[in-house]
Amino acid sequence: LTDKISRERRSENMRRIRAKDTLPEMVVRRLVWGLGYRYRLHRKGLPGRPDLVMAGRRKVIWVHGCFWHCHEDCKEAHIPKSRREYWAPKLEGNKRRDKKNLARLRELGWSVLVIWECETLDGERLEKRLSRFLR
Ligand SMILES: [Zn+2]
Repeated sequence: LTDKISRERRSENMRRIRAKDTLPEMVVRRLVWGLGYRYRLHRKGLPGRPDLVMAGRRKVIWVHGCFWHCHEDCKEAHIPKSRREYWAPKLEGNKRRDKKNLARLRELGWSVLVIWECETLDGERLEKRLSRFLR
């Protein structure tokens, strides 16, 4: 029974993390829209299908969850102590993939802005950054 409970709690935690992961994206989309820029979401045919794509300006924005994408020196990013053998390679793999996608996008001539989940908490600062990147 204990095992069942902890399994359920674990998957509940995961769901919460996943759901939370989309909130920063919504924050960024709303700000970009409010600044007057139009974008497409997760466009196919680009490395890693970036979150926001402004093809005319050749700019993309990634919104990364701190946990899933291993934000360095961030308290939201850590490898869970339980099932470390599962998490470590998985999270490392995400990080490697991000790096590769970023490099490929830049090679193709795209400007890339990465926004971390924890950076979406300060709306004013975020808006300034987005505005600087987009203009
Ligand atoms: Zn972070």
